[in-house]
Amino acid sequence: MFNVETIRKDFPILSRKVNGKPLMYFDNAATSQTPKQVIDVIVDYYSNYNANIHRGVHSLSQEATDKYEQARHKIQKHFNAKFAHEIIFTSGTTHGINLVANGFSSILKKGDEIIVSALEHHSNIVPWQMLCERTGALLKVIPMNQEGELVMTEYNKLLSKNTKLVFVNHISNALGTINPIEYIIEKAHQVGAAVLIDGAQSCPHIKPDVQALDVDFYVASAHKMCGPTGEGMLYGKESWLKKLPPYQGGGEMIAEVTFEKTTYADLPHKFEAGTPNICGGIAFGAAIDYMNSIGFDVISKYEHELLEYATSQLSQIDGLKFYGTSKNKASVVSFNLEGIHPYDVGTILDKLGIAVRTGHHCAQPIMDYFKIPGTVRASFAFYNTKEEIDALVTGVKKAKMMLS
Ligand code: PLP
Repeated sequence: MFNVETIRKDFPILSRKVNGKPLMYFDNAATSQTPKQVIDVIVDYYSNYNANIHRGVHSLSQEATDKYEQARHKIQKHFNAKFAHEIIFTSGTTHGINLVANGFSSILKKGDEIIVSALEHHSNIVPWQMLCERTGALLKVIPMNQEGELVMTEYNKLLSKNTKLVFVNHISNALGTINPIEYIIEKAHQVGAAVLIDGAQSCPHIKPDVQALDVDFYVASAHKMCGPTGEGMLYGKESWLKKLPPYQGGGEMIAEVTFEKTTYADLPHKFEAGTPNICGGIAFGAAIDYMNSIGFDVISKYEHELLEYATSQLSQIDGLKFYGTSKNKASVVSFNLEGIHPYDVGTILDKLGIAVRTGHHCAQPIMDYFKIPGTVRASFAFYNTKEEIDALVTGVKKAKMMLS
């Protein structure tokens, strides 16, 4: 049985005060909070078996290696990858995307086309623009509509035999729209293009099955799913990961080094140069265990209730306009008060202990589309409550009164 009050006890930070008021944390799409089950794993690592991995014969090194590789297996199981070596540890979503974009430098040529969507985070735009500059490939954009949904008829028109890669997010961080990735993947594969899905915003809410999706690459960040910052994962189909060249050179990623020629290690190590964030990887595994112990069905059902509640309560405020009104949405509300800058609303809410994000959310093209500088974004996690949403609504009303 899901009991939010019991869950909240797992998160020490939720009992702190901010500006003398109880913290109400609605910036989960930027970074989620960390339960003590994960914090304990981090403390245990540095207290008991901190050592470099894969290269030591001593017990501490072997213990750390075993735990790190166990975490890789947990992630493999969670995403239902066929092989553990299809899971590459990264420093986060951004790193995973750059790794793939870099790899395609040696595959793409002038005249090839790659497709992005209008709903992307800058992390899933800029690396591809840089790839186009390096290769002469052309970047095309799937447009969005007023509801903040991608227009699939336009997507179909962009696809051709020249399309080599399609990359879209599973869920938009700025608006919360859940994109039809099954359709996008199927259509891309019909023209022989590979697909990368940015799962930074989906993984906190749902459990993707990479084999069922038949996706080529899927990336995520641990810090958005109750894990530590500076840690994430790239799933890649074995065939693709074998084809792509290494991203960085260094220790760990080699088979043999001579000054004449270096050969590379097998997967996954080929893409894991240098000492990784060992504790981060192990804690990522613990975060996945924690979220699975609650259950993703339970999490998404509860968060959907929060979304519906927040939407209905906020919509009663005169002059409040929502951005991203798709029926297919994750627990994110993005809005503005008429004539008031989102930053000012966020500042007043902060004084009340309420943490929201304001600004362009690293998605400037979306803001340009709506001709606004930014929005106020409240993103809900399974440890938020309806009482907190009531406080948010009261806070927004207060901000409106003070700023109008
Ligand atoms: N993609 C999306 C959709 C995001 O929301 C974010 C972060 O907010 C990123 C990519 C970048 O994630 P990270 O900063 O963890 O690499």
